Amino acid sequence: MSCKTGAEHIKSLQDGRTVYLDGKLTGDVTVHPAFRNAVKSAAMLYDFQAQPENIELMTFKPNGGNRRINRAWQMPRNYAEMVQRRKAMQAWARLSCGFLGRSPDHLASSVIGQVMGIEVFEKHGPARAKALRDYYEEASRNDYFLTYVIINPQAERAKDWGEQAEDLVARIVDEDAGGITIRGAKMLGTSSIMANEVFVANLQPLKPGEEALAFSCAVPMNARGLRVLSRKSYEAAAVSVFDNPISSRFDENDALIYFDDVKVPWERVFVHRDTDMCRAQFHDTPGHAYQNYQAQIRLSVKIKFLCGLAHRITEAIGTTNLPPVREQLGFLAAQVSMVNAMMAGMEAEGTMRGEWYVPNRHYMYSAQVLTQDLYPKVINTLRDLSGGALIMLPSSIHDFADPQLAKIINATQRAAKMSPEEKVKFLKAAWDAIGSEFGSRHTQYEMFYAGARFVTTGHSYRTFDWAEATGMVDQLMDSYQLADELGRAN
Ligand SMILES: Cc1cc2nc3c(=O)[nH]c(=O)nc-3n(C[C@H](O)[C@H](O)[C@H](O)COP(=O)(O)OP(=O)(O)OC[C@H]3O[C@@H](n4cnc5c(N)ncnc54)[C@H](O)[C@@H]3O)c2cc1C
Repeated sequence: MSCKTGAEHIKSLQDGRTVYLDGKLTGDVTVHPAFRNAVKSAAMLYDFQAQPENIELMTFKPNGGNRRINRAWQMPRNYAEMVQRRKAMQAWARLSCGFLGRSPDHLASSVIGQVMGIEVFEKHGPARAKALRDYYEEASRNDYFLTYVIINPQAERAKDWGEQAEDLVARIVDEDAGGITIRGAKMLGTSSIMANEVFVANLQPLKPGEEALAFSCAVPMNARGLRVLSRKSYEAAAVSVFDNPISSRFDENDALIYFDDVKVPWERVFVHRDTDMCRAQFHDTPGHAYQNYQAQIRLSVKIKFLCGLAHRITEAIGTTNLPPVREQLGFLAAQVSMVNAMMAGMEAEGTMRGEWYVPNRHYMYSAQVLTQDLYPKVINTLRDLSGGALIMLPSSIHDFADPQLAKIINATQRAAKMSPEEKVKFLKAAWDAIGSEFGSRHTQYEMFYAGARFVTTGHSYRTFDWAEATGMVDQLMDSYQLADELGRAN
């Protein structure tokens, strides 16, 4: 039985979507020099799942379906199924060393989590619940690559969302028997250039009176009026794969999404003019927990890759066996294992919600808080281990083509365990990962994708078992009294 392939995905992106870069419309993203390699990387994910040796690991057959689909769409009923699903997501993450932050399994995780809490939508209205259920069926059966925009452009942070200028935050400007019309912006549609559809919602708190902003829906990327304003493309700026092995292939892109009077039919509207439902959609269902559990799975792969880079950096400059360097590597390894251990904890201490098994929410939020802090520290450790090695590199592959320069490169890029070519190749990859503009964007990503620190610590505060913690303190306090002590002393 077959499943979605890379070629199918590429074809599905040739849909006339409106993407702007450097002041121009890009046309077909699958061939544009700013996006084509990222698109190929997305296609690679589907080709990987379609290989006969991977099909069982990566896909499952949905009830009544005639095609296998990615396991990210599978709703685990127990711990074993959760681990099986995670292994598929880890295998995908390994293909990009964790640098594709918004691979298709991220949104699939969010959608299945929301569907697990379908009763929350039923309370909001049977038509909206039906819309979500049907959308889950459509998106999963077609193995859609979805992205989402659930955050509003910053503009004036000191003002409430409803007080921002009229055309800023995406809002409902009209509705009729056919559906709603939305106008305004959302950020930051990571992977939107290579996704099939965008899931639109509002994760930030809204208050009564801001109902026009309180909606959630799904929109095909080629919807009329949907404009994608891409940030600078690191792929376009990459000199060659040898010079920029990661940014040339895994620049998933981020973009402001502007809805220029986009019409969305009712059957794709999941939340309608309900400010509290915008919160409940993610937090009263396992949606938020599932999407961020996927993010931690991906990070566990990326951070292990960075640990590998660190070790190789020390090999490239011959410091591996120096005691202080070993200490740094040992500390790094402990931090990497902590990320893995937290992931294992989320799974082992998961709970049943009806018939579905969901990861431990507090452990997930703890991991989120700690890893957004950890990532820049890990990057700093790699920089610290490197010294000038990441900078003392030939400007590009073209230096190797000049025999005179090649001779100097061969004489100066020596290493105990690597040839000069291997050393340059490796150090360029290391710089691409941690120091380039692309690498820097990744630090920003890991620090912010799940919300600023005040947001993630808020989730941690909200989900911690304070009753048990303070209960132990109370137990201790109850075990002695001043009057008794005074009685004993006299
Ligand atoms: C690379 C990248 C990719 C992204 N991809 C996506 C995506 O695909 N989809 C999507 O929906 N979103 C995406 N985002 C957006 C991301 O979710 C937000 O950046 C994140 O939620 C933080 O919100 P913000 O950017 O508005 O920052 P803010 O919340 O404005 O925070 C910025 C700073 O201001 C401070 N601050 C602001 N308000 C307060 C306050 N009330 N109290 C205390 N401190 C405050 C914060 O502490 C922080 O230091 C992406 C972001 C990045 C960087």
